[in-house]
Amino acid sequence: MNFEGKVALVTGASRGLGKAIAEKLAAGGASLMITATSDAIEAVAAEIREKYNVKVESFYGDISQEETVKTLFSQINEKFEKLDICVNNAGITRDGLSMRMSAEDFDRVLTVNLRSTFLVSKEASMMMMKARYGKIVNMSSIVGIQGNVGQANYAASKAGIIGLTKSMAVELAKRNVTVNAVAPGFIDTDMTRAVSEKAKEEFMTKIPMCRAGVPEEIADAVAFLASDASRYITGQVLVVDGGLVLR
Ligand code: NAP
Repeated sequence: MNFEGKVALVTGASRGLGKAIAEKLAAGGASLMITATSDAIEAVAAEIREKYNVKVESFYGDISQEETVKTLFSQINEKFEKLDICVNNAGITRDGLSMRMSAEDFDRVLTVNLRSTFLVSKEASMMMMKARYGKIVNMSSIVGIQGNVGQANYAASKAGIIGLTKSMAVELAKRNVTVNAVAPGFIDTDMTRAVSEKAKEEFMTKIPMCRAGVPEEIADAVAFLASDASRYITGQVLVVDGGLVLR
């Protein structure tokens, strides 16, 4: 896919899905701003810059904080002067049965997953509306569609992202800005490596395609929604799960 001349922001790109998405966009020629909470993101930026010969800037900070997001966007303005693609990928889990879940763990997951998606999309949409062009892609999950034991906070955050996606899609459509979500199933990353072997085996028996997904398979779906091939698609949730949600 061709992203030459485009500027893309990918949050949570130090590893896993975010890194694969950043690489996919860079392979198509996009210039990138990538973020994470630690300065490890600088090494990822250097790696992508070297591998794909594109401009890559990095930013570290907690993007669930409004001031941090404002600083991020002032850097995007300063270094790139525009933003064509915004991928809200950063996310965390704090699993536990709801009756034992602390209010802090509930709030933290909602704050990092949903509030940061709102804050970043809000800033991105202002730049995109002025330019009358933009692609916002939000990372939801099939857990946000069907729920999951031990993930009430995570499911609420990912369902919230679907509501946010649909609302902003309607608000921004007239200005040629599309807003869509990807809902991955079980993908092999650090996040799912933390799941118990027993839970993993259970997942595998439920996936019709009989395997976990790999980050590149999510990156391909995000790239489609970030490209002009999807120009008449907005407010949609693209499920990428090997059929898991069907079971
Ligand atoms: P991961 O390997 O744990 O990576 C998460 C990324 O988010 C890291 O780069 C992390 O960077 C960053 N991050 C976390 N908190 C942040 C914050 N407050 N501000 C900025 N960056 C932050 O997870 P993943 O599996 O790649 O998941 C990526 C996204 O896909 C998440 O939204 C997740 O919910 C979603 N998803 C994953 C799966 C799956 O099966 N893996 C399925 C459905 C949905 P640092 O830790 O360096 O800050």
